[in-house]
Amino acid sequence: MSVIDNLAFDDTVLVAPATARLPLVSSVDAFMKLSPLQRFEELTATTNFPSHLRAEPITFDGRDQNYGYLCDIPDCELIAASKVYCDRHRSEQNAAEKNGIPEPQWRQHARALNSPDHVDTSGTGIVSLTGLPPLAAAEIRYALFANATSPRPTKWPPRVLRALIEDLEEKCVASIMEIDTTKRPRGQGKKKDQKRWSKYGQVCDAMVAVMQSHCAPVHVTRAQSRELGYIDPMHWGFRLKDRRSPFDLRVITQDWLRTLTWDLIASIFDSPSRPRTQSSLEQLRRCSVALSAYLEWAVPRGGADATELTEDTARAFVADQTRRAQNNEPQLGLYLVDGQQSIATELSKSLIFNGLRRLMRFAEELSIPVDRGVSGDLRFG
Ligand SMILES: [Zn+2]
Repeated sequence: MSVIDNLAFDDTVLVAPATARLPLVSSVDAFMKLSPLQRFEELTATTNFPSHLRAEPITFDGRDQNYGYLCDIPDCELIAASKVYCDRHRSEQNAAEKNGIPEPQWRQHARALNSPDHVDTSGTGIVSLTGLPPLAAAEIRYALFANATSPRPTKWPPRVLRALIEDLEEKCVASIMEIDTTKRPRGQGKKKDQKRWSKYGQVCDAMVAVMQSHCAPVHVTRAQSRELGYIDPMHWGFRLKDRRSPFDLRVITQDWLRTLTWDLIASIFDSPSRPRTQSSLEQLRRCSVALSAYLEWAVPRGGADATELTEDTARAFVADQTRRAQNNEPQLGLYLVDGQQSIATELSKSLIFNGLRRLMRFAEELSIPVDRGVSGDLRFG
């Protein structure tokens, strides 16, 4: 299922909101029944949405933390030429580095520069979205807000935003979800037969990918995300303090185990005592991934049916985990960020068993036909 399937909604009767208003819908389910454009309009109309991001054009402050365009040296009035500094400060810093002066030390003594009177910088922070179709414009406004409030915001200078928007206009993009940022393999240079960004090529790809990650949960319904194999707290209307990306469950190959994990995390999101950080949820995900990989490896049919997780299989899994932890062997199915296999430890083992107990209790509540010996009596570890 494509995330842009929802674009078939008729949005022609809607007018973009110009001012803040109270939300029209109060529940997530009612929200997901709106068309995608209506959803973005709901999100950008709420009173906590910054009014300058709702305005047309958007005018950014030169010192905005994420969308500022001035040199990073305090009070320097020149426009940042690269990511951080104006041309003059950048060359000063390069020269200092050559002389062995580290950047923090150089910064302490760097003096702010005045902008020459004849240079007009009034348009530098202005970004207009009028040339874009309403949905693409609303997505970008929302993505600007979501990026700025995310745990790890990305810095997007207005001039790059303008270039991106110009290119979106040229490509007649109706929704930023249409763009496939994975098409062009990295580092392969220009290809004549492909549509390329006219300016800031890879930067635009990276920006669109971040924008898509913010907009995807607004496009996809909760039920669709369950089918697609990921779960995103944004569908519950909140964000975890330390995590931007959804929980990807696709690596759990057994349908029953993947949806069981999804349902358990969903029930945690539904509960009044839901966690504010990712650790306990990520632990549940890792536990299911480890069990999934074990079933793939140890059970004849790969555990495709819940009944294949018998008490014997569960005991064998416990024994396997215990041995791996004792010998510090690699964990099945679990990898570190750098692609290396995760190493089993006593701590990781007990966290996996904790997760499993929770998962199996939940399976029993849902009457999933997991062996009673596994769900009820077996004490993992
Ligand atoms: Zn400067």
